[in-house]
Amino acid sequence: MNLKALYQISYGLYVIGSRKGDRRNGQIANTVIQVSSEPPTISVCINKGNLSHEFIKDSAVFTVSILSRDTPLSFIGRFGFKSGRDVDKFDSVNYKIGETQAPIALDNTLAYLEARVINEVDAGTHTIFIGELVAAEVIREGEPMTYAYYHQVKRGTTPKTAPVYIEERKEVGIKAVKYKCTVCEYVYDPEKGDPESGIAPGTPFEELPEDWQCPVCGAGKDEFEKED
Ligand code: FE
Repeated sequence: MNLKALYQISYGLYVIGSRKGDRRNGQIANTVIQVSSEPPTISVCINKGNLSHEFIKDSAVFTVSILSRDTPLSFIGRFGFKSGRDVDKFDSVNYKIGETQAPIALDNTLAYLEARVINEVDAGTHTIFIGELVAAEVIREGEPMTYAYYHQVKRGTTPKTAPVYIEERKEVGIKAVKYKCTVCEYVYDPEKGDPESGIAPGTPFEELPEDWQCPVCGAGKDEFEKED
C-alpha cells in the first residue's frame, strides 16, 4: 500500500468557526465538502482532540470561511497552529456573528457558509459533522486557496525535483540554505525571504532578526534546523 496515493486528493482550505455558549473558536480544516444540494448540505471532518470538536458537539452549529489563495501564512497559522484553549483566535481578526450565533472569519474570506448539524459519523480519531446550510454569502471574487497550493507555494515545500524549483535556483545564482521549522515544518527559503514580516528576498536565515518568528506557528529561530 502506498499512502502517497492519498496526496493526489484535492482539497481546499477553510476556517471553521464554532461556539459553545458565548465562547467562540475557529480552526483550519481542509475537509469541507458539499454532500448534497436538496436541501444544501455540507460536511466537515474534525479531530476529536480539537476544541472545535467540543464546541460543535455542544452547539450543533459551525461556519465555514472559504479562504482566498493570497491568505497570509500568519493568518492560517493563527487558526491552524494555536489552540483555542490558550488564545481567543478571533481576537484581532475581522469576523461577524452569524445566524447560528457562531463566529464567521471575514479576513481573507471569499465566501462563507453556516450550517446546523443534522447528523454525525464517528470516524475513529475524527467526527464527520453533516450540516444543513442555514446561510451562505459570497464576499468577493477571487481564487480559493487549495491545500496543495498552501503546501507547495506558501509553505515553501516545493519538491526539489520540481522544474520550478531548479529554475528559481539558477536565476538567483546563490547557494541558499533553507531552514525548516521543527514545530510546523514551514520552510524558510532565503530566496523568498518572509515579505509578510518585512524580510526581503535574499536574506539568509542567519541574518534574520533574533526576534523573528515562524510565520506559520510563531516558533522562534532556535526551533529551526538546516535542511540538506
Ligand atoms: Fe513553525
